[in-house]
Amino acid sequence: MKIKEIHIYQHDLPVKNGPYTMANSKVWALDTTLVKIVTDTGVVGWGETCPLGPTYAEAHAAGARAALFEMAPGLIGTDVLPLTVQRTMSTLLNGHNYAKAAIDIAVHDALGKAIGLSVSTLLGGAVTDRVPSYYATGVGAPDDIARLAATKQAEGYPRLQIKVGGRPVEIDIETIRKVWEQIGHTGMRLAIDCNRGWTTRDALRVSRELPDIPFIMEQPCNTLDDLRKIRPLLQHALYMDENSVDLPTVINAVGTELVDGFGMKLTRIGGLQPMQTVRDICEARSLHHTCDDSWGGDIIAAACTHLGATAHPRLLEGVWLAQPYIDGHYDQKNPVKIENGHIAVPTGPGLGVTPDEALFGTSVASF
Ligand SMILES: [Mg+2]
Repeated sequence: MKIKEIHIYQHDLPVKNGPYTMANSKVWALDTTLVKIVTDTGVVGWGETCPLGPTYAEAHAAGARAALFEMAPGLIGTDVLPLTVQRTMSTLLNGHNYAKAAIDIAVHDALGKAIGLSVSTLLGGAVTDRVPSYYATGVGAPDDIARLAATKQAEGYPRLQIKVGGRPVEIDIETIRKVWEQIGHTGMRLAIDCNRGWTTRDALRVSRELPDIPFIMEQPCNTLDDLRKIRPLLQHALYMDENSVDLPTVINAVGTELVDGFGMKLTRIGGLQPMQTVRDICEARSLHHTCDDSWGGDIIAAACTHLGATAHPRLLEGVWLAQPYIDGHYDQKNPVKIENGHIAVPTGPGLGVTPDEALFGTSVASF
């Protein structure tokens, strides 16, 4: 079975009650890119990539489409096999993992549909039909975030991530204290995500001043060198998110014991094929990780959920979806959504999600 056609679509995802605020940016709407592949046997597979604006990572929506335009002609005629397609993409374009991920997801979807297996089965097998999620707050006032924490705990989320950074660190410290007053007795786990927004001075101060609160500190500072500098001085577990841009970086971070876990993004690492390698590396070293993406609709949500269902439950920090922050679904019959802080793994072959193509209009390019 070979790739016969590739169609690329652009679609807007407005942020509900926007903007979504992080240390270095505010996001009002997301520009997502969908990929449809059609095989020579008539099977259709869908993929998606949706950078979180142009400053969250070295990725932006127009860049994703430009990279796809570059690769698509060379992918026509390639076998619909994930590893084969990854190797072919690396002969067509250096880097640009986030664009390659959309093709990779579509290939998994098509292969699963062709042989009647779900994507989680292709990835080694689901160990659950319902994965834990976590709620991520934006950067907000201490009392507001504390109230939101209590609400999300009551909704059944097993984990909360609060965004901090981009303001005086004293306010971040106050926010963490107030949140912990609300959830500390409940068993809800807490992650503090700085999105690269703290200096090493700020990160060390927060850890020193809050030694009694067992949060994990996610991507506190901008660079790998910053993380290396603070690592021996921290009293809290350190997770890497934005810096884990490719497999060599992840292997190095694990091998040098730089981190205790990862906030892992499916599209940043290049799709499901490399992400399952990250999953296996983490399991081999007993490191915790999430199975997320930065943003996106039902296609990304389904891909992250299938992968999360195959992760070791003891190590899976959760599957984050953009679904609570956006309106509507691509698939009205089988939407991927969070209920009581958990996500049901889509059933059926492939991703288990069939988007309503009419939502995406005419393709921006077809090959
Ligand atoms: Mg993060």
